[in-house]
Amino acid sequence: MSTLETMIAEVDTLRSVTQYLNWLARLNNEDFTIWTSWSTADYFCRGAIEEEQRKRYPANYGLRLTIELVPSPCWYNSLREKVSRPEWDKLRKQVYARYQWRCGVCQVSNVTLHCHEIWRYDDKQHIQKLTGFICLCPMCHHCKHMGKAGLLASEGKLDLQRVIEHFIQVNQCSREAYETHRSEAWHTWRERSQYQWTTDLGTYVGLVNEQEA
Ligand SMILES: [Zn+2]
Repeated sequence: MSTLETMIAEVDTLRSVTQYLNWLARLNNEDFTIWTSWSTADYFCRGAIEEEQRKRYPANYGLRLTIELVPSPCWYNSLREKVSRPEWDKLRKQVYARYQWRCGVCQVSNVTLHCHEIWRYDDKQHIQKLTGFICLCPMCHHCKHMGKAGLLASEGKLDLQRVIEHFIQVNQCSREAYETHRSEAWHTWRERSQYQWTTDLGTYVGLVNEQEA
């Protein structure tokens, strides 16, 4: 996948310029400060990426918070499942600090924070790649995993309407826009769940090896 395609796939989780520059720096294994001087060029670049994204994923366009349904063959492949509890705690605390202990989507603070793994799906080669992490509040995290949220709701453990209202409020969108996005996400999920996927932990593979050693 080209760098541009990588950007297109991930840009909807990177709404602020700071986040975006941080992400670019990580992608290139460089220090964040190097990239801050590139901000003007990045604004232009970002416009081109968003335009491309709008064409490719119309149901995601303009949404700060999107639904990310993990294809069923990829369940239990998360990094969280593969590293020790202390290793995970260390990692998630670094992520929280990077986001200044705020939700990376709705910016709320003083709530329990969750560390969400960002996966990119290559629909041609069927490789799922871990590309980074984002700090999320519980409600944004429920929106990301709307399938699991529905399951919790069916068990009486979660108010699904509140989750949907959160999605609508964060995105400043209509109920119809939510429904369109939701059905598109499920469509993608059904498509992807037909295949076996290879898991690529990317630059985070070292965390697992360290543990196995
Ligand atoms: Zn949030």
